[in-house]
Amino acid sequence: MEIIMGKQTAWNEIDNKTKEILEASDRIWGCAETAFLEDQSVGILCDVLRKEGFTVEENLADVRTAFKGTYGSGKPVIGFLGEFDALSGLDQEAGLSEKKQTHAGAPGHGCGHNMLGTASLAAAIGVKKYLEETGKPGTVIYFGCPGEEGGSGKAFMAKGGAFRGLDAAITWHPGDVTVADTGSSLANYQVAYKFYGVSAHAGGAPHLGRSALDALELMNMGVQFLREHVIPEARIHYAITNTGGYSPNVVQPYAEVLYLIRAPKNRQVEEIYQRVNKIAEGAAHMTETRVEVDFVKGCSNLISNHVIAKKLWDNLTEIGAPEYTDEELAFAKSISEGVGASRFESIEKQSANLPRDEKQKVLEHRGESIYRFVVPFDPVGVMSFGSTDVGDVSWNCPTAQAYVTTWAAGTPGHSWQVVSQGKSGIAHKGLLWAAKAMAGTAIDLFEDPELIKAAKEEMAETLNGEEYLCPIPDGCRPRALGMTK
Ligand SMILES: [Zn+2]
Ligand SMILES: [Zn+2]
Repeated sequence: MEIIMGKQTAWNEIDNKTKEILEASDRIWGCAETAFLEDQSVGILCDVLRKEGFTVEENLADVRTAFKGTYGSGKPVIGFLGEFDALSGLDQEAGLSEKKQTHAGAPGHGCGHNMLGTASLAAAIGVKKYLEETGKPGTVIYFGCPGEEGGSGKAFMAKGGAFRGLDAAITWHPGDVTVADTGSSLANYQVAYKFYGVSAHAGGAPHLGRSALDALELMNMGVQFLREHVIPEARIHYAITNTGGYSPNVVQPYAEVLYLIRAPKNRQVEEIYQRVNKIAEGAAHMTETRVEVDFVKGCSNLISNHVIAKKLWDNLTEIGAPEYTDEELAFAKSISEGVGASRFESIEKQSANLPRDEKQKVLEHRGESIYRFVVPFDPVGVMSFGSTDVGDVSWNCPTAQAYVTTWAAGTPGHSWQVVSQGKSGIAHKGLLWAAKAMAGTAIDLFEDPELIKAAKEEMAETLNGEEYLCPIPDGCRPRALGMTK
């Protein structure tokens, strides 16, 4: 009974602060700042933290837009992770079921991080109230984690020791389904290969030129042959970010390609990276150019802590899905019916591992415009072929995350549809559901030290003696999207 009372305190506090929380989310949606340039968003979140009585530390772990807000003292120390960066080029008008940009080419919150950051903040505010009212020992920390998209901000923060001393970390991500994540994700490295050649008149004196673009093409071809000879879970993506100019009558003296190498474990990424480096050097050798290998960022695979994930699931289930207005349901329907091929992707993926009867039950929701159920707890976990820098936190302390319905069924990630729904009632209700479930989970951990002990034992067993090897090399600094240095 005491546990329930404690949670109710936190949940009431989140209800009391709803206006402030939703305003912060909507304002961050409007800022839509990309990786490591999130100054206004940081300002909005830090203002709320200070107003709510948290001690704020900015420039955390020497990452300019990273910060934390701390309340309480002593053990246990529970962290909530918040993100707030946007995606480039995804500007979209809010509340529409068709694509319409207001500022062509501008960034937009296509991954819902405006909600992500504020729901975690709301959870921290709720837990602070609980600590205050009960007078229990313990610390709650809100981590402002910048540059998740293409930046792996948390890996840089982890490199600087930001997550040391945490007993548990809890986070969430907006989505179209509600599920306590028990799966893993891929580790990755992002590396720029910069080729330097010699320019020459391509018609008059081609023998004097050494083409950086030729080198880049040979590198890509070499990697194409490599793909057959790596583990099947690995992914090697690339983008040519500089072709050396628009003039075919000039031998290109410079060319640049950005590689993203993924695999289930950091050391597997490292192995493939070393092989890709050999190919780059070979291409430079063949073309008599020079290659510079520029490590941009990396992140670790996610280790979901099932003890904490189960508590997230319990809380999500206990609180239950929000009610929606007819207007919200109509908006969800128009979005969902327009998404095309992705419509059933998420529930098919989330149900893939479940026992047959549970799987059937989940799949019965096909065709609904908005999912108002919690996917049954999956003790095995689905492997996601994407990556998240939450992985780097999960190597430092037991970590769990949930996905919570904040948008219409089938809404694809990183899309204009996400941006369009980012300030809707559906988004607002989902983020409050997530906030309450996370606060409830933290309170479960504060109330029952055995849970933290069990979570740590599970983590030790999973790691089996393996130590955290931060993928960020010494001297590597976080950099904004598109920045070559
Ligand atoms: Zn994303
Ligand atoms: Zn995201």
